[in-house]
Amino acid sequence: MTPLLPVLRPGPGTPVAVVGLARSGAAAARWLCQLGCLVRVTELAADSALRQTADELKALGALVELGRHSRDFIAGSRLVVASPGVPPQSPPLQWARREGIPVVGELELASWYCPGKIVAVTGSNGKSTVTTLLGEILRRAGVEAVVAGNIGNPFCGELGRLNPGTVVVLEVSSFQLESSLSFHPDVACLLNLTTNHLDRHKSLAAYRAAKAKLFAHQGRQSSACLNADDEGSASFAREAAGAVAWFSRRRKVAGAHLAGGWLTLNLPNLSGPICRRESLARKGPHHEENALAASCLAGLLGVAPAVSGEVLQRFQGLAHRQEVVAVLRGVTFVNDSKATTVSAGIRAIEAAPSRVVLIAGGRDKGSDFSVLRPLRGKIKAVVAIGEDGPKIRRALKGFVPSHRSDSLRGAVQAAFGMAREGEWVLLSPMCTSFDMFRDFEDRGAHFVKAVAELSNECVP
Ligand code: ADP
Repeated sequence: MTPLLPVLRPGPGTPVAVVGLARSGAAAARWLCQLGCLVRVTELAADSALRQTADELKALGALVELGRHSRDFIAGSRLVVASPGVPPQSPPLQWARREGIPVVGELELASWYCPGKIVAVTGSNGKSTVTTLLGEILRRAGVEAVVAGNIGNPFCGELGRLNPGTVVVLEVSSFQLESSLSFHPDVACLLNLTTNHLDRHKSLAAYRAAKAKLFAHQGRQSSACLNADDEGSASFAREAAGAVAWFSRRRKVAGAHLAGGWLTLNLPNLSGPICRRESLARKGPHHEENALAASCLAGLLGVAPAVSGEVLQRFQGLAHRQEVVAVLRGVTFVNDSKATTVSAGIRAIEAAPSRVVLIAGGRDKGSDFSVLRPLRGKIKAVVAIGEDGPKIRRALKGFVPSHRSDSLRGAVQAAFGMAREGEWVLLSPMCTSFDMFRDFEDRGAHFVKAVAELSNECVP
């Protein structure tokens, strides 16, 4: 336990403010009410769903304001808990800092009360996949495991059912790490580090600094799991206080690697074959990377490699991540709506066995789309959508033919018109969805619906 914890950890009667009433904020507020804290919640929006949550929290004893942030909701608090969506420069967080009140995220707050081990997974791409995979492997091995965090399941909401034997597998975003004061997972994994979220972090250095927080408070007994094939991830070996385990597709390492067609675990206390590369349910470089990372993490928790192998041979991947949704007249439609980064989009384009007609665009995160130019041979055409579609078209001008569509449905139709038998129509937006959709799942669902409509039209 870090020395900060006894000072910060709220108990009965502690005044605590929660800023933001989205899913994580609401879970934090509920937990704090359960602890008997004096909870005040402030939220700028005021729709009907929020009003319902507010009523529920009021019934638990919290004071809630919607539609504005007033300073007296913050004043006098001993701690402020911020939802991950609340920018650090928002007024209530500035007031808190000015008054010297510590500000933490919901995930860190939860970690202070967690009786079991915490494994935290972060990175630019692959977090949800590896977090889910690890949860499945642990359960298969008979370990009580809970998957929570940025994956859409707030950690605070799980606290009531944890016991000392539970392993909590947390997907952690850089936003959640940014505000960390003492978060110190037992095992910390950084999958990869590419430019991402530069809209909020402004520079790669600041983004890296946020990710560094994952290791900053770890003790010597803890471990780090890093990607030997990714410079950004590997560079954190210097920052890890405890032992480092590696994963690699390219060379033998102390951890998990791919060699001679086998995924193999090679930890000091546990080693052996995981499974054959060909027997992985999902094939391709990044699936192998994710498989190695999850097996390495499972190995660090004492799970035999063959158990990881069993799960990997069945794991079909998550929805909205390079998900084949239909084949129409020989054209394969792939829903990769979760690809909100350019690097994830590149992985999908590379994974396609043929040329792709790419549907991309949405709200940009400060990305450089010109890095797609070397893939010109693989991208037959781009149909650009959303707020920042024009930015993508500009970046690819003279390299790849591009078109504009005002709707995803129109984009699907236009892409189908251009694709030939054997080719992919790939939705890999490389942008967030918030300009046109509720979230990436909503965007993926609209894509699937548009493809289904086409499919009906194609019936002779
Ligand atoms: P995250 O939670 O980090 O967004 P996901 O597992 O949800 O990651 O996958 C998001 C996108 O990244 C998908 O398009 C997926 O195909 C791609 N992806 C998954 N794993 C990796 C990886 N190891 N490297 C690069 N891209 C990946």
